[in-house]
Amino acid sequence: MANDASTVFDLVILGGGSGGYAAALRAAQLGLDVALIEKNKLGGTCLHNGCIPTKALLHAGEIADQARESEQFGVRTTFEGIDIAAVHKYKDDVIAGLYKGLQGLVASRKVTYIEGEGKLSSPTSVDVNGQRIQGRHVLLATGSVPKSLPGLTIDGNRIISSDHALVLDRVPQSAIILGGGVIGVEFASAWKSFGTDVTIVEGLPHLVPVEEENSSKLLERAFRKRGIKFNLGTFFQSAEYTDNGVKVTLADGKTFEAEVLLVAIGRGPVSQGLGYEEQGVAMDRGYVLVDEYMRTNVPTISAVGDLVPTLQLAHVGFAEGILVAERLAGLKTVPIDYDGVPRVTYCHPEVASVGITEAKAKELYGADKVVTLKYNLAGNGKSKILKTSGEVKLVQVRDGAVVGVHMVGDRMGEQVGEAQLIYNWEALPAEVAQLIHAHPTQSEALGEAHLALAGKPLHSHD
Ligand SMILES: Cc1cc2nc3c(=O)[nH]c(=O)nc-3n(C[C@H](O)[C@H](O)[C@H](O)COP(=O)(O)OP(=O)(O)OC[C@H]3O[C@@H](n4cnc5c(N)ncnc54)[C@H](O)[C@@H]3O)c2cc1C
Repeated sequence: MANDASTVFDLVILGGGSGGYAAALRAAQLGLDVALIEKNKLGGTCLHNGCIPTKALLHAGEIADQARESEQFGVRTTFEGIDIAAVHKYKDDVIAGLYKGLQGLVASRKVTYIEGEGKLSSPTSVDVNGQRIQGRHVLLATGSVPKSLPGLTIDGNRIISSDHALVLDRVPQSAIILGGGVIGVEFASAWKSFGTDVTIVEGLPHLVPVEEENSSKLLERAFRKRGIKFNLGTFFQSAEYTDNGVKVTLADGKTFEAEVLLVAIGRGPVSQGLGYEEQGVAMDRGYVLVDEYMRTNVPTISAVGDLVPTLQLAHVGFAEGILVAERLAGLKTVPIDYDGVPRVTYCHPEVASVGITEAKAKELYGADKVVTLKYNLAGNGKSKILKTSGEVKLVQVRDGAVVGVHMVGDRMGEQVGEAQLIYNWEALPAEVAQLIHAHPTQSEALGEAHLALAGKPLHSHD
């Protein structure tokens, strides 16, 4: 550790995940003296237990599906099965490479990295490894962990969280997934591709319930076709062990049995016992409350990432961390428009969106002021080549900007970059229609949807 007791950092950051390390890198770049305290591994959930490992598993699943289904493209292959140890090696190699890169980045920016479990000890200090680390400002970025329900004990073997699912040494024969949100449907998708018999149990009426209803319905149709089972609209009641697995009972008495139960009902903030309340930080159900500049009620303390009640996404953590660093360095900052944050669920098929849903637009602008348009990927050459189906749905304020883009289809997550420019630049359909999209790409589907919304459809039926 490079500091001594008299050092006062400009910024002391507790937690080295997406939010914490982004703040550290940007603050150091802006000339601030930064200490970054992490008890586990730099990179946090996203790199080690979240975004990156899940996408590696999903990609392995995609390869398995392609091997199984290659004949429809005229390619003969034999699918022999999943070597889960090799899948983990591939996944771990990806993580290791990124981890090394990130460690190098933090070192090269001259951030003082401190390994250890820290605790907020005053509005301007964190105690770690028996030392007090002083700062002019403290950033709380301790992230989140998987949640469970009362009476549902995660044992790490038969009743597991996403952390366990990512290192499971076998492909389960059958699995019940409690929760049909992003994490639940991503594991459902990957496991089904690996050969698991999957059932999702979701208490709300739809899978990915925070998405546009049209996207949920398209995903449900695609999952049904893939043989992924789901039970919607009834809440979980209890789980018990059977001779070789778990039995889940729902509130209506329906039961499901499987080898493993993955609890994917969301993640809760890591804030207990860390001194936050003692130092007067305002909190709500464990979340640290912040204003739109990520300031807590204590003037020397900010908070970002999954610890605060905003969207639990790595890129939101990055953006919030950067905002704090820039604010502390005296740069002009603007609040984040959370509706403008792109959201991707990386199952097969993918679900991607930016902006607001049709229902929310009607609430905000009035039903008669909202126009929607659906473009079916059946009219898109590249999607046909890939044999994927889905839709692009646009939500527009009548005679105004596009306020919602909702897409379903394999690889459609990659189109969210353009969609977010459309939303965040408040583009009019006619302006997007003016832009020429390369043929044949899936980006054309976005272009064609806007052509149609601008009143001049090309490859779509009026
Ligand atoms: C299975 C899964 C898949 C996901 N997929 C995606 C995805 O595809 N895209 C996406 O954008 N997001 C995804 N996420 C969400 C994303 O991982 C989180 O939003 C992001 O990691 C939040 O960053 P954070 O910095 O707030 O918290 P974290 O990444 O959780 O980091 C917090 C860090 O603080 C450390 N810490 C906690 N307490 C202390 C302490 N007392 N002292 C020192 N250190 C401490 C922890 O060890 C941890 O490293 C996924 C999450 C999961 C679980």
